[in-house]
Amino acid sequence: MNDRVYSGAPCLVRLFSTQHRRGHRMGRSFWFECPKCSYRAKVSGRADRGLTFFVQTILCRDCRQLYDAVTRLRVPAEINGLGSLARWRLVRSPAPGRSISSPPGFQSVLDRLPQTGVKRFRWLPFKIQCPVSALHRVRSWNDPDRCPKCGVYLEKSALPYRLWD
Ligand SMILES: [Zn+2]
Ligand SMILES: [Zn+2]
Repeated sequence: MNDRVYSGAPCLVRLFSTQHRRGHRMGRSFWFECPKCSYRAKVSGRADRGLTFFVQTILCRDCRQLYDAVTRLRVPAEINGLGSLARWRLVRSPAPGRSISSPPGFQSVLDRLPQTGVKRFRWLPFKIQCPVSALHRVRSWNDPDRCPKCGVYLEKSALPYRLWD
């Protein structure tokens, strides 16, 4: 047995087993902090998923920031995908000039109302993209990985900052 794996994160082990029992998949956000320049970000630090969407942490080279980018979104299957998304975007985030194929922001999908009364769903995929501009250069960022400001490896907090689904 490798004791180090468990001694570092006893709470996470407990969280995992709780999720397993409830059969409920939740995503987790963590604080990542740079030991050199004190840059901080609260992101998943990898690909993760909740009940209704998937995220991938990305590094934007233009913003020099980490973000959680939405990569898949669960939508009702009855309605035509882009049409319904367009309507949804008009209601939720009237951002002029952004194309309809832009992924929604992490916070906006967290704030979505629960989809009650919907029996069939499908998944809309999105390319990873900076939430500030589609023209920014981004790449996937997976812990352990480097600070977007100074290049030193970021340190991950032991406890999740937030659970989401
Ligand atoms: Zn740094
Ligand atoms: Zn950017």
